[in-house]
Amino acid sequence: LTTADLIEEHRICVCVRKRPLNKKELSMKDLDVITIPSKDVVMVHEPKQKVDLTRYLENQTFRFDYAFDDSTTNEMVYRFTARPLVETIFERGMATCFAYGQTGSGKTHTMGGDFSGKNQDCSKGIYALAARDVFLMLKKPSYKKLDLQVYATFFEIYSGKVFDLLNRKAKLRVLEDGKQQVQVVGLQEKEVKCTEDVLKLIEVGNSCRTSGQTSANAHSSRSHAVFQIILRRKGKMHGKFSLIDLAGNERGADTSSADRQTRLEGAEINKSLLALKECIRALGRNKPHTPFRASKLTQVLRDSFIGENSRTCMVSPLSLAVFGHVITSFPQINTCEINLN
Ligand code: ADP
Ligand code: MG
Repeated sequence: LTTADLIEEHRICVCVRKRPLNKKELSMKDLDVITIPSKDVVMVHEPKQKVDLTRYLENQTFRFDYAFDDSTTNEMVYRFTARPLVETIFERGMATCFAYGQTGSGKTHTMGGDFSGKNQDCSKGIYALAARDVFLMLKKPSYKKLDLQVYATFFEIYSGKVFDLLNRKAKLRVLEDGKQQVQVVGLQEKEVKCTEDVLKLIEVGNSCRTSGQTSANAHSSRSHAVFQIILRRKGKMHGKFSLIDLAGNERGADTSSADRQTRLEGAEINKSLLALKECIRALGRNKPHTPFRASKLTQVLRDSFIGENSRTCMVSPLSLAVFGHVITSFPQINTCEINLN
């Protein structure tokens, strides 16, 4: 079996990625509570205390499609998650890859890559790696003869509003026509000819995402970033790959804050992550009615979820504190639940 075959069995593939402890955590001697004993199992060791005050670790195991340990590079994560979906868009399908997790767990590192130069690990993330393989695939004789053009879009959803990261953060309207086709009006689609073109767009978009913010991370943790690679043939859509760096899931809980804006943002994130969860569940069970309209995020992703030939993968980067949260927020998603065959 190849990876593609494996992922072919499911329309959704769910993976976790443990990130290495950072300098601060190491210096604080934080306890490493996660081990990945095999390629699809995560073990969590929770420190507990008995009545007689003796301390012990309670171990729990969870199974995923893939569990990547902290030595895994972006390239490896990519190979088992988004890579098989590149074929999907060449075969006229819709592909979606999400990064879901708490702020600081490594969503942006995994998706957008790390261009700060701080990391030894390869700096390219899933956006760039997928783009690279799209251009490689275009050279295959069977696809070359289709004469496909490649375009990219990059936008952000913040507090239920859509902003174009490739057009100075222009605020965009989302409209649904009579046939329930959803359109982000005026979203810039930039034609790209090579991986370098894509890297430039990622850089433009990222700087746009954070500009004017007092704290870049405070802002990005509250918005969903959507990067799309679109294949067109004679102007018509042939396939689309949406790569999404979701808002930090911990913020969803943050609805008790004293600050009104923070509370509203928290409520909005809660709503969109819940809507996403519902849509994914409905997909897994082939429910006819999927609540796409419940949030902007699911509304704009609607066409990627419906249809015979759509595939989704989710990568949840984990850091120590997040684990319980990931599990409790997505309790239903595991291989058994989502296996459609
Ligand atoms: P998020 O987007 O989920 O808030 P980031 O991607 O910004 O988190 O990651 C937080 C920090 O941890 C960054 O400095 C990033 O470079 C680092 N980091 C995350 N994942 C990894 C990893 N797998 N290997 C090395 N460094 C990582
Ligand atoms: Mg981030």
